[in-house]
Amino acid sequence: MTSPHSPSGPVFSAPAKKQLGQHFLADRYYIDKIVMAVNPKDGDRLVEIGPGQGAITLPLLRVHPKMTVIEFDRDLIAPLTAAAEPLGELTIVNRDVLRVDFTELADGQPIRLVGNLPYNISSPILFHALEHAAVVSDMHFMLQKEVVDRMAAGPGSKVFGRLSVMLQAYCEVTSLFVVPPGAFRPPPKVDSAVVRLVPRDPASIDIKDHKRFAEVVKAAFGQRRKTLRNALNNVVSAEQFVAAGVRPDARAEQLDVAEFIALANAT
Ligand code: SAM
Repeated sequence: MTSPHSPSGPVFSAPAKKQLGQHFLADRYYIDKIVMAVNPKDGDRLVEIGPGQGAITLPLLRVHPKMTVIEFDRDLIAPLTAAAEPLGELTIVNRDVLRVDFTELADGQPIRLVGNLPYNISSPILFHALEHAAVVSDMHFMLQKEVVDRMAAGPGSKVFGRLSVMLQAYCEVTSLFVVPPGAFRPPPKVDSAVVRLVPRDPASIDIKDHKRFAEVVKAAFGQRRKTLRNALNNVVSAEQFVAAGVRPDARAEQLDVAEFIALANAT
């Protein structure tokens, strides 16, 4: 009998490049879970970041035979093209994803981002994608579990922090499932997790000044053990705490996202 976790080797094999964060997914069970989480619908415009050897790309193409991928490693382009050819129409952009303008790529029609991200640059990729949130309908990313835990944490959690507030202010964040190191070749040192991010409608985000909001959140968590009165000493006045309805003797980790927004808007 086949185990639900039976390894599914890539259709072609190239040595992994550590400097490109290459950990190739090789477990059918988790690949299927990602495809089910993405659940592509007719007309969706899927864009995968870092297709590698096609572990997620090829199963996605089987259910949705047209997509775009962005891969930096030029050694992977020819074999990926050949593997995708019988399955559908794969457009490969051979570039550093951080240099790809998603707004230009979308060309007026929303895109859905997918990726088992290279962990060494996962935060820059995340923030790059968020800069283009207006053209991104959702994102399904595999990241280090520790990062996903921080992204999805709520007030009171030890890992609730700047990343949680900055992401949740702009996106709905759902941690979907954990993927163990053994699911990859070569295995990474840590657990991974898949997260779904759905950018909020800009009209529903009540932040008056985005730069100011980022500054207040940064300052509040910069000294997370201090009360907000002390951590935000030069940033928020006593009157502004009152106007925002936030207790100055609270700590940053006790505030929810709406309270951070109220605090920044009051300054
Ligand atoms: N999706 C494949 C999988 O799940 O097996 C590969 C995932 S691997 C963790 C990350 C992929 O991102 C690699 O294929 C790597 O070459 C690619 N990559 C690394 N840095 C990149 C960059 N700056 N721009 C685009 N792709 C990059």
